Amino acid sequence: MTGRGRDAATYERRGATESDRGFLAEVDRHQPELVREERYTETWQRGPLTLILPPVREWYPPELKAATQLGRQSAMDGHCTACGAYSRATDGEWYMKHEDTCMATDDALDMLINEATLKMFPADDPDGPPPGLLD
Ligand SMILES: [Zn+2]
Repeated sequence: MTGRGRDAATYERRGATESDRGFLAEVDRHQPELVREERYTETWQRGPLTLILPPVREWYPPELKAATQLGRQSAMDGHCTACGAYSRATDGEWYMKHEDTCMATDDALDMLINEATLKMFPADDPDGPPPGLLD
């Protein structure tokens, strides 16, 4: 962790119920801890919050690596340094809504993963991924 200073007050609280605010405050009191590494995911625990995050692979192209790192870090910190988004909780659901232009949105990450996959397995490669994988 980077140890960037951040306290409960930095979270955006609009729309959150008392219980949501309590949840976020409890998250703030903990540092993320790696619980489990699996092939495609890492499970991190930050107090009551469980985060399932994609690992960063050494072989990722630079853009994908940067976007994956940003997505992971912002989820763990509760704040995105690129787009300024803060994690929120509404009705018991924790979420991180990046600006549409942020490279850490799910759509942007999916696109980078597809690009990287296509470079590794060109579409005409008989050993490439099965049809539908990149849809
Ligand atoms: Zn962002």
